[in-house]
Amino acid sequence: MTIAIRRPALGSAATAFMAKKHQMLIDGKWVDARSGETFSVEDPATNEIIAHVPAGDKADIDLAVAAARRAFETGPWSRISPKDRQRLVWSLGDLLERHADELAELEALDNGKPVTNARRDDVQGSIDMFRYMAGWATRLNGEQIQVSTPGNWHVYSLREPVGVVGQIIPWNFPLMMAAWKLAPALAAGCTIVLKPAEQTPLSALRVGELVTEAGFPDGVLNIVTGFGETAGAALSLHPDVDKVAFTGSTEVGKIIVRAAAGNLKRVSLELGGKSPAIVFPDADLDLAVAGTASAIFYNQGQCCTAGSRLFAHKSVYDRIVEGVAAEAGKLKLGHGLDPSVTLGPLVSQEQHTRVTGFLDSGRQEGAEIVTGGKVHGNQGYFVEPTVLAQTNRTMRVVREEIFGPVVCVQSFDDDDLDAVARFANDTEYGLSSSVWTRNLKVAHTMARKIRAGTVCINTHNYGDPAWPFGGYKQSGWGREMGKEVMEHYTETKAVAARL
Ligand code: NAD
Repeated sequence: MTIAIRRPALGSAATAFMAKKHQMLIDGKWVDARSGETFSVEDPATNEIIAHVPAGDKADIDLAVAAARRAFETGPWSRISPKDRQRLVWSLGDLLERHADELAELEALDNGKPVTNARRDDVQGSIDMFRYMAGWATRLNGEQIQVSTPGNWHVYSLREPVGVVGQIIPWNFPLMMAAWKLAPALAAGCTIVLKPAEQTPLSALRVGELVTEAGFPDGVLNIVTGFGETAGAALSLHPDVDKVAFTGSTEVGKIIVRAAAGNLKRVSLELGGKSPAIVFPDADLDLAVAGTASAIFYNQGQCCTAGSRLFAHKSVYDRIVEGVAAEAGKLKLGHGLDPSVTLGPLVSQEQHTRVTGFLDSGRQEGAEIVTGGKVHGNQGYFVEPTVLAQTNRTMRVVREEIFGPVVCVQSFDDDDLDAVARFANDTEYGLSSSVWTRNLKVAHTMARKIRAGTVCINTHNYGDPAWPFGGYKQSGWGREMGKEVMEHYTETKAVAARL
């Protein structure tokens, strides 16, 4: 493994953005926090401070919510035609495309992820999301309803935007999580207060500039940077917010639900996971090795869908363990801005401490460290990609979400699919999963038996804007993407007319 933690140069556009004073977007204006406070943003590969952004709190959230309310009720947005909404959302995709390289660099700098992945997945996925969701702006149909009431009736339903939406997002895919939230809300006609994660606020602020450039009216999108306990809590508690959409940890998701109860705002939650990847004996093993390695090492393992519990049938267990360990050895660790790097640092000191704590716990509980298991270098938050074998269901590393490049491998020798599904379902989470087999019956039977919002067959970490994504059990409420997400950003109104 190579180490390269000198920061490669940014392109001219990203350099120009980084040189600016970073402010928040409230009611179409770039402003400081009312308190005047800022917090620093760090390059997780070098520990350098790269920016200072406003530390927004309740006072700023109040202003942002008031602006969003005005924009929703009386501003030009409240009268905009679906066609114009569609055009604006689509044009945001175009603007992202025009600034794609810059956005990928900001993402690599701020989060640490490899810039090549950021350009191919985060930025392209965000462009695709705006373009797909633009279409929904003109397809929010109600329906005519056949009633059995005696008499002559015309009864129908309307789909209307839910109102002012608070959106709170995590640091693992800062741009893409913003796009997943903004695109459907804008297509539905909502107005928004977005709170990016405090670790990674930069790309969201750049998107704020592009939203203004696209011509969205003032107050439609407001962005308040700040910490969860202050800005995030104020947003989820706010009595004039109609809905809160949250992506983050299950622990904070529960806090959001309690906060939202005050005015019974609508809540959608995309939370943690401990997803199984299950390799059957008849799988294409080359595909399964590469796919299950990518399932856990992609994005430094900081994916809510990460295939962190790897189950291999005993007849292929050794091959899978050796293969995934060999894939780990091929990864090049270094600064995300280096295009040859394939594994960046973890996002923060806190995350580094968390993941190394799990490595210690795995060691103490008797897991076999096949490869990795240590921090990498003495600068930045690097952790070696790690394969833990001989793990079992009672270990903390198997039960809890690590959110790092650490996979726990277990073998199974059962050919009864109910028994295999019981291993897969032995978790409080239910976000994603993958099944590796050439047997259609096994694949689709497992797809029905696994209690998770998504099942991937011979792939993992799949995504598409049309794909309803979300969790069973403690992985969340509701779905993002697909037509399902539009349910969460609209209310149904029923109209009955006596003719
Ligand atoms: P986190 O829950 O700590 O933070 C997420 C966001 O919530 C941040 O913006 C943070 O500032 C805010 N927040 C923190 N405390 C808050 C509070 N009391 N009130 C309101 N907001 C608050 O999560 P994280 O560490 O940033 O992200 C990692 C977690 O996110 C993992 O558990 C991961 O599985 C999950 N995640 C889930 C999905 C999904 O789609 N299901 C996607 C990405 C990440």
